[in-house]
Amino acid sequence: MHISVIGTGYVGLVTGCCFAEFGLTVVCMDTDVRRIARLEKGDVPLYEPGLTESVAKGLRDGRLSFTTDIAKAVDQALVIFIAVGTPSRSDGAADLSYVEEVAKGIARYMTGYKVIATKSTVPVGTGERIRDVIRAHQTERYRFDIVSNPEFLREGSAIEDFLRPNRIVIGAESAEAIAIMKDLYRPLYLIETPFVITDVASAEMIKYASNAFLAAKVSFINEIANLCERVGADIQVVAKGMGLDHRIGAKFLHAGPGFGGSCFPKDLAALIQTGEQAGCEMRIARATWKANEEQRRIMVEKIRTALGGVKGKTVGVLGLSFKPNTDDLRESPALWIAEQLLTEGCALRVYDPAALEEGTRVLQGAVPCADAYDAAQGADALLLITEWNQFRNLDFDRIKSALRRPLFIDLRNVYEPERLAAFGFQYVSVGRPDRLPKQG
Ligand code: NAD
Repeated sequence: MHISVIGTGYVGLVTGCCFAEFGLTVVCMDTDVRRIARLEKGDVPLYEPGLTESVAKGLRDGRLSFTTDIAKAVDQALVIFIAVGTPSRSDGAADLSYVEEVAKGIARYMTGYKVIATKSTVPVGTGERIRDVIRAHQTERYRFDIVSNPEFLREGSAIEDFLRPNRIVIGAESAEAIAIMKDLYRPLYLIETPFVITDVASAEMIKYASNAFLAAKVSFINEIANLCERVGADIQVVAKGMGLDHRIGAKFLHAGPGFGGSCFPKDLAALIQTGEQAGCEMRIARATWKANEEQRRIMVEKIRTALGGVKGKTVGVLGLSFKPNTDDLRESPALWIAEQLLTEGCALRVYDPAALEEGTRVLQGAVPCADAYDAAQGADALLLITEWNQFRNLDFDRIKSALRRPLFIDLRNVYEPERLAAFGFQYVSVGRPDRLPKQG
């Protein structure tokens, strides 16, 4: 079967590669000429574990090709996935202009029956809107079906998530389209992946409700962490004790600087907007958003207090991407905190394994460093914001002798306070009592 994927970002490229691995012939289309030129050479323009190998395999096997020409992407494909961005507009609503542009392109170049499946995260009602746009721009009256097939992959483990998802959601009105979609995902059927087959509106809503719920879990545990600090409890133990309850679950109960990335903040904002339009106030989504904004400020205050003011100080920063294993800086709490420190007159020595070049382009004046030890060199504190694996086993003797002052601020609770104190660090973390260095 021939399919195409429009948009070759984190979602589109992973989708294209994984379907090619399922044995389908996939055309990936993007309007970004440079991106497509690089991809044609097997040069992957984003950092995602396993993706370079997957693109190379697809190209080698002749199952994956790239184009900037929408006509080529539409012509032979039975299923066309829309995976373009849906960023926030200034009022928080999802900007659907890219999706609509694609819908117009598909309409113009249709040559027969097509299934048009939306992978982009789009508000309820978008499926209907795409249907209207296509009808209005068709040059000939070819049949088509609209499917909502939201994507749940996580950057940093996107290929693994795509190939072993918790569930596949397919929203459609047409039995023919559902059968075609099931056929596409047959390899996942064989490994007993649950399928949720529903209407388009419910499928669209599942995605927003899932992301808002996960974001709420993060904001909730952060709020509990802040309270733990005031009353002398330890959030790590509290979260463990909560997470062992199967009704709660241990995931997304890690206290820290709050969520970021290209999805949670924008999807929360869009859900709040959808609620407003529908006359249904989304109070929990709003509170989640507000608590998340506040959490970043609380982290900066924590840094100020630990350093006794940040003006004129130097801080080594570990991690800039919004989470480990990605180069994505969109809405990164690390970037926000670093920008705030710079604004307040703090000098920064920064290191990130994948987002250093782009990160230091944004953080004007920050010094890019070769590794964690270089970042610590001559600094008044080492600040761990994004918990890349390589920061989980630092050589503390080296860090301590590189720092001007043995202050370790760990916004991801990667280390045990006693251990750091035993190494002679003043250790500050989230939702746990601060530790002073052990003497002697
Ligand atoms: P992205 O910004 O990485 O990629 C979007 C791509 O679409 C870009 O390469 C852009 O050039 C291309 N594009 C824009 N307009 C186009 C057009 N008219 N024709 C062809 N290509 C066009 O975005 P992403 O992170 O892959 O996200 C895409 C969608 O998937 C969003 O709606 C997002 O909310 C959703 N989503 C993202 C993730 C994630 O972890 N990134 C997970 C699940 C769902």
